[in-house]
Amino acid sequence: MRLKDKVAIITGGARGIGKAAVIKFCSEGAKVVIWDVLDIDGEKLANEMNEKGFKCKYFHVDVTNYSVVEEVTKKVIDEFGQIDVLINNAGITRDATLLKMTEEQWNSVINVNLTGVFNCTKAVAIYMVEKGKGKIINTSSVVALYGNFGQSNYVATKSGIIGLTKVWARELGRKGICVNAVAPGFIETEMVQTMPEKILQMMKDKTPLGRLGKPEEIASAYLFLASDEADFINGAVLSVDGGITL
Ligand code: NDP
Repeated sequence: MRLKDKVAIITGGARGIGKAAVIKFCSEGAKVVIWDVLDIDGEKLANEMNEKGFKCKYFHVDVTNYSVVEEVTKKVIDEFGQIDVLINNAGITRDATLLKMTEEQWNSVINVNLTGVFNCTKAVAIYMVEKGKGKIINTSSVVALYGNFGQSNYVATKSGIIGLTKVWARELGRKGICVNAVAPGFIETEMVQTMPEKILQMMKDKTPLGRLGKPEEIASAYLFLASDEADFINGAVLSVDGGITL
């Protein structure tokens, strides 16, 4: 019960890595709040968790909209009394090579992956600062560390997240809040299923462990960084990638 009675918000928690984190955090004693735009999946997951005796609530939150994020953050405080953990997990891809990338593709990825992280962190950090304690975990990617063909927009956001993590680790660290990032390798989720099989096989071949990661393996990294065991870890970027960056 590493998160007993902690209140954790997980963005993009309706499916993929976020869903695995919701299940893991509930089983570790946390009260879990899901923020997502996938209403049917989010509601279903929250109901399943509650039926198992855990405390879980779904909110429709588009992380790109600061006023919505701010308003729902207040609702979480009203209902749960505190926010101990924020997992900035929501993210999208809209891949194209530089010369083919549209303004819409560029802006949509920047808005969700970067502005969304700024919005959620700003809204939630206010309450963590009041309490003098909190854990914020941002989701970067292995591609932030070595780039990726056809992902100017996505790589810009995932590299930006590493920078933000370090800035906030400095700014908020002195107020008792730890800010860290996880950099997943290629993980078996819907997001990766859109990639051509040839590319996925290449990624497996490049990974010393010879396989893609599982959503639960990223959720375990979130759990560790969210737990009291990680109280002196701040500003770190934890690669969870089977060694692909070696
Ligand atoms: P998924 O696409 O499976 O899940 C992401 C969730 O975020 C979806 O439910 C998605 O909804 C939601 N979301 C999208 N836009 C918004 C928004 N504006 N507001 C709130 N929620 C939103 O992704 P993964 O589980 O694969 O990835 C989770 C995180 O891990 C992402 O940040 C991703 O970039 C990162 N990552 C993933 C890797 C992988 O291999 N899978 C590798 C490295 C990093 P919808 O489906 O409607 O878009």
